[in-house]
Amino acid sequence: METLCHFCGNQNFTERHVQYVYRRDGHFLIVNEVPCEQCDYCGEQYFQAKVLKPIEIEFESIHYRGKKVARELRIPVEQFQEVLATA
Ligand SMILES: [Zn+2]
Repeated sequence: METLCHFCGNQNFTERHVQYVYRRDGHFLIVNEVPCEQCDYCGEQYFQAKVLKPIEIEFESIHYRGKKVARELRIPVEQFQEVLATA
């Protein structure tokens, strides 16, 4: 798919399945085992539009149309100053 990494210029990629985090308007959707090509040098990940489009549609179904999902995560959130105060 890619011929040249946009970040480092490397030409070698490996097909991988990774965890993809979609974020919009303060909402998140995590999708596991998403296919991508990853730069062998810097690790930048490249996803095809045909992969990202259904994830975007799923995100909208969940967050804007109330679709139920099988699994949800509770994720801790802190301000950086709070991190410093307890470190
Ligand atoms: Zn790269």
